[in-house]
Amino acid sequence: MAQLALDELAPACGSASTSSIPSGCDARVMIQALRLVARAQGARGEYAFAETSLRRALSLAQAVQDHSVTGTMMGSLAVNSQVRDEPAAAQQWMAQAWQLAQGDVSAMSRAKMVESMIASRRGDRTTQLAALEDALRLAEQSGGRRDVALLQNNLLDAYIHTDQSAKAVQLARLALPVVQFYNDQTVERTLRHNLSVALVQQRQFDAARRESARVLEMAQGDLDPVRRALQLRELGEAYAKVGQAREALRLYHEERALSADTARRNRESSLQQLRLKYDSEAKQRDLELLRREQTLQDRELGNRRLAQYVGVGLAALLGLSLILIGVMLARVREANRKLKANQSLLRAQSERDPLTDLANRRHFLAVMDRHAKDMFTGALLMIDIDHFKHVNDRHGHAAGDAVIIEVSRRIAQAVRAEDLVVRWGGEEFLVFARNVAPDQLQLLAERVLFIVGGEPVQTAAGPLRVTCSIGFAHFPLPPAQLALHWEQAVNWADMALYTAKSQGRNRARGIVTVEAGDAQALIQIEADFDAACSSERVQLQTLLGPESPEVSGAD
Ligand code: GH3
Ligand code: MG
Ligand code: MG
Repeated sequence: MAQLALDELAPACGSASTSSIPSGCDARVMIQALRLVARAQGARGEYAFAETSLRRALSLAQAVQDHSVTGTMMGSLAVNSQVRDEPAAAQQWMAQAWQLAQGDVSAMSRAKMVESMIASRRGDRTTQLAALEDALRLAEQSGGRRDVALLQNNLLDAYIHTDQSAKAVQLARLALPVVQFYNDQTVERTLRHNLSVALVQQRQFDAARRESARVLEMAQGDLDPVRRALQLRELGEAYAKVGQAREALRLYHEERALSADTARRNRESSLQQLRLKYDSEAKQRDLELLRREQTLQDRELGNRRLAQYVGVGLAALLGLSLILIGVMLARVREANRKLKANQSLLRAQSERDPLTDLANRRHFLAVMDRHAKDMFTGALLMIDIDHFKHVNDRHGHAAGDAVIIEVSRRIAQAVRAEDLVVRWGGEEFLVFARNVAPDQLQLLAERVLFIVGGEPVQTAAGPLRVTCSIGFAHFPLPPAQLALHWEQAVNWADMALYTAKSQGRNRARGIVTVEAGDAQALIQIEADFDAACSSERVQLQTLLGPESPEVSGAD
């Protein structure tokens, strides 16, 4: 029952120390339970366990500052130590109990009783007797009849062992009614045992046997083996002393068996306690290992998580980089596209005349480079505004510009879309008609003459009459169809224009035939074109412009 109580109480009192009691811990009941458990442990010979229980009870008693219980626990520890064959510890406990008891006669009496018990265990009868007599005197001072009876009982034991059996029997008869009055069975049992020993010493064997039987009867099988062993020894020794060998031997064997059993229990309890201690230490170690393993796992988990973060970060960075690279590439591509567009725009602009928006000489060169690198085919018309200097001189440069712009617009209007009109110089234009037939070329030249000179050009300075002169030719030159470089071809058109100018302007002159067998002959003609014309090696046709004062006709 005490153990059950302890199991109930212990959790709330778990962290109790000598200085503090946790709330919810019923220290007094706990102490009571521990004392009972300690007594049972001691009775079973489990002194090591008993000491643990007593120490716990002592701590609690100190914590609740109960001097009486504290002293009692010290006394119990002293006796337990003596039983465990630790006399030094026993003396120490005893001294502490005595010191604590000062000023309290009943406590002092109990301390003296402890002293007598220890002396008795030691076999020191003199000290035992003296201590008991002191204790009895102190108990009588404090007025506790029960304590007195108890001490009488103990004194009785001492008398027995000092061969004062008559005194002992007398004392027993005195104490027995008091003990019975208090119904203290344990004390009564001890008392009756002592009485039985005293009776043996008095050789009253029947009375002695009756008392012994009564002791066993009262115990009802629940015997304290240690106390019982002691009783058996005392009784055996008493029988031996009075010459009752057979009874003495029987009791001796009984006592040996019980003592051996008690010793074994004591050993086992010590071992068990050691094992418990070891178990708890091993458990502690296991827990520590587990804790470390947990820490390692946590750390590993942390590392793994970190690695994941880094991985994700790197992936994100990579993704971002890829996106960035993509964006950059797109930008570079866009920039390149713009650059190319700009370049082609620039090229287009560089190959275009800003005033008239016609192709310029550079563009013509580029076209020639692509399509007429070696041999030029097609028709060329070289057009030059007549007396343009006068326009500038009389009407100003702006009027001159306006005339150039209008003339260029009119020339572009006269030709087909596929023909190329180039502003060749200041007021000179070149038309490259790639696919025009020779008989159509003359019509084209005429159309240009009339479209340019037909209507006056409106300028800020008023309407101005403008005419132009044209030199034209179809290549390769008839009839020999000799191959020409494009620069030579332009030169032939220019030479034809020159004749138009020299014949009075506002007219077109076209190469009809050229008497030349080879390229060399052509070069000779170019060297003196006027002579070639005069000698009719070159035949030209003349087309007159509008309202020309001169009469049309071939030269
Ligand atoms: P010709 O009939 O012999 O061709 O006589 P011309 O006055 O036209 O003589 P020429 O062809 O030698 O003179 C061309 C002049 O055109 C010279 C120059 O001052 C002028 N000129 C050249 N380019 C431009 C231009 O862009 N704008 C203006 N206003 N005048 C220009
Ligand atoms: Mg000119
Ligand atoms: Mg001119």
